[in-house]
Amino acid sequence: MSTQPLHTPIRRTKIVATLGPASDREGVLEAMISAGVDVVRLNFSHGSPEDHRRRLTEVREIASRLGRSVAALGDLQGPKIRIARFANGAVTLAEGAPFVLDMALDGAAGDAERVGCDYKQLIEDVDAGDRLLLDDGRLVLDVERIEGQAIHTRVVVGGKLSNNKGINKQGGGLSAPALTDKDRADLMTAIDIGVDYLAVSFPRTAADMREARELLGEAGKEIGLVAKLERAEAVADDATLDGIIEACEAVMVARGDLGVEIGDARLIGTQKRIIKRARQLNRAVITATQMMESMIESPLPTRAEVFDVANAVLDGTDAVMLSAETAAGDFPVETIEAMDRVCLGAERERIAQESGHRIHEGFTKIDETIALSAMYAANHLSGVAAIACMTSTGYTPLIASRIRSGLPIVGLAHSAIAQRRMALYRGVVSLPFDTSEMAAEELNDQAMALLVEQGIAEVGDHVMLTRGDHMNAHGGTNTLKILKVEKA
Ligand code: PGA
Ligand code: MN
Repeated sequence: MSTQPLHTPIRRTKIVATLGPASDREGVLEAMISAGVDVVRLNFSHGSPEDHRRRLTEVREIASRLGRSVAALGDLQGPKIRIARFANGAVTLAEGAPFVLDMALDGAAGDAERVGCDYKQLIEDVDAGDRLLLDDGRLVLDVERIEGQAIHTRVVVGGKLSNNKGINKQGGGLSAPALTDKDRADLMTAIDIGVDYLAVSFPRTAADMREARELLGEAGKEIGLVAKLERAEAVADDATLDGIIEACEAVMVARGDLGVEIGDARLIGTQKRIIKRARQLNRAVITATQMMESMIESPLPTRAEVFDVANAVLDGTDAVMLSAETAAGDFPVETIEAMDRVCLGAERERIAQESGHRIHEGFTKIDETIALSAMYAANHLSGVAAIACMTSTGYTPLIASRIRSGLPIVGLAHSAIAQRRMALYRGVVSLPFDTSEMAAEELNDQAMALLVEQGIAEVGDHVMLTRGDHMNAHGGTNTLKILKVEKA
């Protein structure tokens, strides 16, 4: 247990950072992890399997050297529909001009009048009167008519359009299934290189998540599934949203595509609804996309970005995510530092620490009853330094962390997989704790000694300790002890 003492104050909200060419630069990855990255995202939309393997190997090496648990999230590309390419790389579309998406056009032959599309099915999914949004909504096209293999549109908002930009349909309704052939191959790569979480892009319903779970099979049993909520139909009604949340371990508010499909006005309430529901259903939640977008080119965030990150923290998100800021930007390390600072600032606010979670609800399971009772007691008794959970899978800390608190929740786990799983959970710090050589009567003292060594508790503090009668039994947590830290 040669971990470094933790930085104080402990940041509760976790930072997910996408890796890419920017983080590949000499020394940058280590500086990012030192600055506070909890989860790295390997984006299968870009890069080769070898790139992802090399990056994860380096992350694991740095993390173990720094005594940190950093989780890896593999993110499948999904059925992102894209235009093909232009003969000259890009064109500029003028407002009011006609423009054709031509399924029959050669992939590289686009010009200012027409461009091809890899997803031929698009012709079936689109009707006159539909609105198409290109390049994350920067360009807007209204469909006027379909003729053979050609979708004839009128440019409503023009601008520069370059190769392979994405296409969304306002209101959703594109029929592509969530898992493409490329995703199936990438899923196998993700298992092989050892990710902790795997994100499925554009799931429509829980069935898409179940399909991914089946593909993971035995080899992927330890991998937590993440549903990216980015289709209008996925958030259209409570039953569909709940179904998707319950079919996975975590969800992502994927504001890039979701915002294009449902419009920015509806995105505001939808983010809050998803975060609340995920927490109620004991799932973790990541808020993603454009959180510090201007930091791709600037060493400081805008005030608006500061408040966007802070609002996600106040909404109760487990994690905030960076995309191009850390994968392709000029200031990846400064971006992590800014996020760390803003999260800590927001967490000082009272509403980030006070909880009304499940206060009028019955509990059904013993471990969840212990976890929630520990939080209730910790938030009410004075002099409590931490909630410590002896856990084999990280489940008790997950349940505990659904309740807001200003106190750290410490997951004491032997398994490195469980430690990394907890890297996503808000307010949870994981520490390696191997009970196999400990006598039953010394477990509590050893746990307290570790908390003191880590600077989490001091002599005289109270600590809430949860554990089971039988160590390493899954779901066996049945005990809450209130301990006072004594002199060693
Ligand atoms: P992406 O997903 O970055 O893979 O598009 C996130 C989002 O759509 O917000
Ligand atoms: Mn997306």
